Amino acid sequence: MSRTALEQWRNKAGAWVQRGLDQRLRLAVTGLSRSGKTAFITSLVSQLEHAGLDARLPHWPPAAQGRLLGIKRVPSRHHHVPAFGYEAALDQLSARPPAWPEPTRGISEITLAIKYQPGNRLKRKLNDTATLYLEIVDYPGEWLLDLPLLAMSYAQWSEQQRGLLQDEVLAALAGPWLQAGAAIAPDSPADDARLAPLAAAYTRWLLDSKRERGAYLVQPGRFVLPGEYQGAPMLQFVPWVWGTVPAGLDDRHHYGMMEARFEHYKKHLVAGFYRDFFAGFDRQIVLVDCLTALNRGPDSFAELSRALNAILQSFEYGKSGWWQRLFAPRIDKLLFAATKADHLTPDQHGRLARLLNTLVRGGHRQARLAGIDIHTLALASIKATSSGQVSHRGDTIPALQGRRLDDFEPVTLYPGEVPESLPDAEFWQRQGFDFTEFAPPQWHKDQPLPHLRLDQALAFLLGDKVS
Ligand code: GDP
Repeated sequence: MSRTALEQWRNKAGAWVQRGLDQRLRLAVTGLSRSGKTAFITSLVSQLEHAGLDARLPHWPPAAQGRLLGIKRVPSRHHHVPAFGYEAALDQLSARPPAWPEPTRGISEITLAIKYQPGNRLKRKLNDTATLYLEIVDYPGEWLLDLPLLAMSYAQWSEQQRGLLQDEVLAALAGPWLQAGAAIAPDSPADDARLAPLAAAYTRWLLDSKRERGAYLVQPGRFVLPGEYQGAPMLQFVPWVWGTVPAGLDDRHHYGMMEARFEHYKKHLVAGFYRDFFAGFDRQIVLVDCLTALNRGPDSFAELSRALNAILQSFEYGKSGWWQRLFAPRIDKLLFAATKADHLTPDQHGRLARLLNTLVRGGHRQARLAGIDIHTLALASIKATSSGQVSHRGDTIPALQGRRLDDFEPVTLYPGEVPESLPDAEFWQRQGFDFTEFAPPQWHKDQPLPHLRLDQALAFLLGDKVS
């Protein structure tokens, strides 16, 4: 082989090896509203941008061992998915006074190229560097609550919703849409001018149930978080709870039109999301705000537990027969993270992680999720407090210092204990919760954001990829 041919061959081989080492990983971040998705992604990207420099990531080996060569944001491959508002989030967090960034309203994405030196001897011999393209996708956990709709007809769903109205509080809140719907005959000609306000009143009911009852299990999920479908006719239907319906109605009639829209919603929004997005995720992190639910009391906590179980079904269905026909899921690692751990003194973090563990690993779940590597963690994406000790009646007790969210005044407090398993009735009587909301920390854009255990999350989620 001539010298030039040899050079060419070497270059080709180098490029081939490079491609072999370069990988893409689609990491999905979800959780119910205000569970902390925006804060998590913002901080994760901030940590990665500072990894190997001034970020504190002792539990993530490539950072700790100095093998990271550079991390930068690169354009996303999916041009139809909105970009995650990273810069806007940094602007808000670094403002004076700092503000929490805008929460997630729909799907968005940000891609990072992580260039590193492989630690593995074989990989290192073949080539000195490798790149992991990490695609981080943010989407509302509420969308996963819609999965059971796929197995229901419009009539069955309506029946289920009618059941909810047995609850006095929910029924009282439902007044406006119940009245508006009662005035519409199922076989009268379909008219958007009547359906749109009816659906708007129903959506207000969903939002009110969420606010008044701390309800998490709100369906259809896109009604409360429509993403780009705000105002689309596909979101303008309500369950039919006003008695019997004549046979043979089609979409020229009110009932038939709502039935058609329900089916369209299932096909395009629910199944479409699983097919076009969920099926492409490699790893998933589910964020859970246990503390707000504990603050609101037993009903809200029980509801959070039910909603989490509903969310978990998405990962179980992925393994079952009929579901597999819709898509072949490939998630192999699932991390559950209890967020906002900086609301607790460090001695409570283990209890918070165990509480979340009991919430998500109930019964035979573990067996049914076999094949997926699952881990649970308590973390704070953006640490807004500092912990220390205070003297109280001669005792030294752990305490937190931070600034109150509403007036930015400094506070020192002992937030109390978290139960480490599902709290029983006696527990709720014995002890209430009162977690104060904190303002974000004073922070400068050039620094990494302060956090708790994001490096452990990185180690679990990327450990085998950046190795
Ligand atoms: P999203 O709806 O899941 O995107 O939720 P966000 O990320 O917007 O978080 C909702 C709120 O939770 C924020 O505005 C903060 O008040 C609070 N929060 C989120 N993460 C943290 C955290 O790590 N520490 C503290 N103290 N508060 C947090």
